[in-house]
Amino acid sequence: MIQITNIQKAFGSNQVLKGIDLTIHKGKVIVILGPSGSGKTTFLRCINALEIPDQGVIAFDDGSLTVDFANKPNKKTLLALQRKSGMVFQSYNLFPHKTALENLTLGPVIVQGKSKAESRTQALALLAKVGLSDKADLYPFQLSGGQQQRIGIARALAIEPSLLLFDEPTSALDPELVQDVLETMKQLASEGWTMVVVTHEIKFARDVADHVVLIEDGKVVEEGSAEQMFELSMHPRTQAFLQRIE
Ligand code: ATP
Repeated sequence: MIQITNIQKAFGSNQVLKGIDLTIHKGKVIVILGPSGSGKTTFLRCINALEIPDQGVIAFDDGSLTVDFANKPNKKTLLALQRKSGMVFQSYNLFPHKTALENLTLGPVIVQGKSKAESRTQALALLAKVGLSDKADLYPFQLSGGQQQRIGIARALAIEPSLLLFDEPTSALDPELVQDVLETMKQLASEGWTMVVVTHEIKFARDVADHVVLIEDGKVVEEGSAEQMFELSMHPRTQAFLQRIE
C-alpha cells in the first residue's frame, strides 16, 4: 500500500493542489477524473517527484520509503521516489533519436546500472509484451501514435516500478488507435500491476477501475468504487462532471 497524505502544490500564487490524500492498494487500478486545470497532472507528477510538493507525505507501507515534503527531502530521497514509479505521458515523450529498443534500454542501463546485454534481453521481452517485436529498430517517427504510446508503456515497465502512472495516455491519439493502448493497459491491470490513471475514457474507468477519484480545484470531491461513482453517486459535483463528459 502507498499512503499519500495532504499533498499541496502552488505555482507562484496559484495554489493548484490544496491537500490531496490518496491510498493506493497493491494490484489495484485507480482512475482520476476531473475537469481541465483541476490539478490531475500536477498530482501525478508529484507522486513521481517530477514536481516537488510544498507539503505532504508519500509513504510506502513496506517500510521501503517515506518522503515528507515539509522536510525538504534531499536528491537521493527524491531519486528513490522517482524509481518507485513508471510514468506514461500524454505525448509519449520518447527519445526521438533513439530506436524503440534503445528507448527501453536507456533507463535500466543508466538508472538501474544494468548491463547492456541484460537490458536488451528485457527490452525485447517487453516489446513482445506490447506486441511490437517487429518494431525494435524503428525510430519514434516511423511508428504510429498508438505504437509510440505502447513503447512508452513498455519503457515505464522497464525500470521495474512498484507503481505505474498514466497521464491521459490516449488523449493525443487518433480515435482508431485508442483501443490498442487501452487493451495494453487492461492487460497490465489483469496481471496485477498497481496503476494510477488520469483519463477521460469513462468506459475504461467503468470496466477496469477498482477505485475512482474525482478531483476539482485541487481537492478530492468524491471517491469510491466505479459503481459508487458512476451509478450511485448523489454528489451534485460528480453528477455535473459526468453529465458534461458522457
Ligand atoms: P488537463 O486535464 O487540462 O490536463 P489538469 O487537471 O491535469 O488539466 P494541471 O495540468 O495539473 O491540470 O494544471 C493545474 C493548474 O496548474 C493549471 O492552472 C496550470 O496552469 C497550472 N500549472 C501546471 N503546471 C505548471 C507549471 N509548471 N508552472 C505554472 N503553472 C502550472
